[in-house]
Amino acid sequence: MKNLLKSWQGTRTGHDVPESDDAAHRLAVFEDIERGHAGWFWATDAAGRLSYISPAACERFGAAAEALIGQPFTALFETDPENPGERSDRPLQFLFGSHARLADVTVRLVPDRCGPGGRPGWWALSGQPKIGVAKPGSDGAFHGYRGSARDITVEYERRIEDSRLAEFDSLTGLANRHRITRRFEQMLSAFRGTMRPATLMMLDLDRFKHVNDTLGHPAGDELLRQVAQRLIKVVGTVGEIGRLGGDEFQILLPDQEDRGKLGELADKIIALISQPYRIDDNHVVIGVSVGMAIAPFDGTEREEIVRAADLALYAAKHGGRGQFRFYSTDLKDEKEERRQLEDALRDALATVDSAVDNWEEPQLAMVYQPVVRTEDHLVVGFEALMRWEHPSRGAISPAVFIPVAEDTGLILQLGAWALRQSVRDAMAWPKTLRVAVNVSAVQFAHPSFPATVAEVLESTGLDPDRLELELTESVFMGDGEATDAAFKALKALGVRLALDDFGTGYSSLSYLRAAPFDKLKVDRSFVESCTLTDQNSAKIIAAIIGLADALGMETTVEGVEAFDQRDVVCAKGARLIQGYLYSPPLDQATVLERMRSEELRIPPDGPRRHRPERRLVYRRIGVIHEDHRYEALLRNLSATGAGIEGLVGVPLGASLVLDLGAGQLAVVSVSRSEEASIGVEFETPLVSDGAGGLVTRYRASPYALAAAARMASSSTPQFMEVEVRKRA
Ligand code: C2E
Ligand code: CA
Ligand code: CA
Repeated sequence: MKNLLKSWQGTRTGHDVPESDDAAHRLAVFEDIERGHAGWFWATDAAGRLSYISPAACERFGAAAEALIGQPFTALFETDPENPGERSDRPLQFLFGSHARLADVTVRLVPDRCGPGGRPGWWALSGQPKIGVAKPGSDGAFHGYRGSARDITVEYERRIEDSRLAEFDSLTGLANRHRITRRFEQMLSAFRGTMRPATLMMLDLDRFKHVNDTLGHPAGDELLRQVAQRLIKVVGTVGEIGRLGGDEFQILLPDQEDRGKLGELADKIIALISQPYRIDDNHVVIGVSVGMAIAPFDGTEREEIVRAADLALYAAKHGGRGQFRFYSTDLKDEKEERRQLEDALRDALATVDSAVDNWEEPQLAMVYQPVVRTEDHLVVGFEALMRWEHPSRGAISPAVFIPVAEDTGLILQLGAWALRQSVRDAMAWPKTLRVAVNVSAVQFAHPSFPATVAEVLESTGLDPDRLELELTESVFMGDGEATDAAFKALKALGVRLALDDFGTGYSSLSYLRAAPFDKLKVDRSFVESCTLTDQNSAKIIAAIIGLADALGMETTVEGVEAFDQRDVVCAKGARLIQGYLYSPPLDQATVLERMRSEELRIPPDGPRRHRPERRLVYRRIGVIHEDHRYEALLRNLSATGAGIEGLVGVPLGASLVLDLGAGQLAVVSVSRSEEASIGVEFETPLVSDGAGGLVTRYRASPYALAAAARMASSSTPQFMEVEVRKRA
């Protein structure tokens, strides 16, 4: 203390004051201040090493003075690395380096310098450089710092907490809209210079509103908290998660551009979020849709990326739930298209509404796909499937319009019509044949559903045992009591219940215990891959059939297209099959015509082996060889290869780059070349775009493309471009 005081006085007066009564008095005052914990003093030498620190400070830090004295000051103290406003130790080092005056700089002792029982605390640090100006012959050299520090722990922590509240969502603890927006803005501007990529993932929960409406807001809040926990679990440290409000979430993924990996991450998120939740005494099941956009490929400004991810999310939601989508330029019109689809569907419904007189052709129809007994090819029933023929657009798939109908509530009318029409048609079939009707979860959840079924049965006179309702696991969402009541009411009517798409959703065995199903339908996706050797699908099919047998339920295996698939599923115990191998869905007139004999048998007929699909496409692409670019036609495309037409003279083994558009460049080698048609194999397989399409994992950044466009080619082309026409 004496030393400090001496140098202190030295700074202030320029003279070494001899110890006097006055000095002793000052010393006593300083010592009181130090002991009273109101503050403490510190000093460094010219090299910035701590040369003095108040004993009271050491006490608070739980550290011995020897452990601190002699250490570089800026290694001992730090500004807040967590506090977004202040950058970590930079300013302190900077101030020290430039010998600047320190005024209330907020620091703490680096936490691992604390001894047992000590606390780093937060301190407002002030200090003066000691410059030897006053000494005779002095050169103005810097002799170190002298300073004081004041404890501001309480205020500082309150301030941090307040700003945390302003930055984080109090319900889930995730970043709020404000923070995530700012973080993304910062990330993009920092990445722009270095051309680093970043992905924005937007999430929207499916059916969250339903939970909120039926179980109440506290349950909705609890659900959001659990969703947040699951997101933290999957995303880990690769990204920052934010909740924008309601059931909307965003995830920022710096340095991510690999669409293969991003697709896997999205799939993981979808799988985990779709697992059932336990809230109070209810089982709650929701889904999630994911849209992704990647900077700089889909845009370089935050607004652009957000808009792109939003369009992708929109497409994911409406492409059938529980999907992810990457942004692509053709999504731009999808929103508008959907609005038109809603209107068109309303019009279509009017064409079959018996309450209005209309002269228009009916746009909606039911078709019936046979369910065949494998042992003797006997048809035991039909599944009713809806068809929509739009006057100008042609056939629109139910996979497209059913979700639209669900969102708009049109499904109630549409479903009631389908049920009535199917039951009426079934009345014209032999009495041994059943009709299976698909029931949307939205329809099922409506309190009037059992009454609608009862009314249809009564007005048509169909034996209830001939009517099978196909439900999916999503009927178990939300209010357990209402679901139970609906099941009871339907069973009381005597209709049969089938669980559709089994194995794809949440597949909780407790559903099977809780609900009185007569049948499980094994989803087509298992059949699709059951002939591939490295898949578990065949085993899963066997397990589902075994499970159904044990519980006394029937099974139907869906989507069998080839003999090899039939052989596998039969070996696994399948007794009922529905699939193109036996028959596509048929219209009522065809069914009746085939039904002229009492017993309808359909032998299997189709390809011997199932071949994973090579999508047929006709698309103009660029083919780059050396520094020349050719135009060609992409004829077919799979994950591993493609067929291309329009180039003559391409040697086998040649290495080409395909320009598939929008920065998608793929390196390929030529594996087949006949006249104007070549086959190529991808060096890196393509990955799913989330919507049944294929995309390259990576894209060339717009910067690289711009640079490439500036390079003109001067060499002569080696291949000949020829015009090819579409084949039928
Ligand atoms: P789903 O209930 O799983 O119906 C089976 C789908 O698989 C039908 O598609 C059928 O045509 C198709 N399919 C049958 N055999 C094969 C095969 O061997 N290979 C392949 N690749 N596909 C096969 P569809 O008619 O396009 O219907 C799609 C979905 O739309 C249905 O899936 C169902 O969820 C929904 N849907 C159709 N009609 C109705 C309806 O009247 N009401 C409701 N709520 N949903 C319906
Ligand atoms: Ca079905
Ligand atoms: Ca199905």
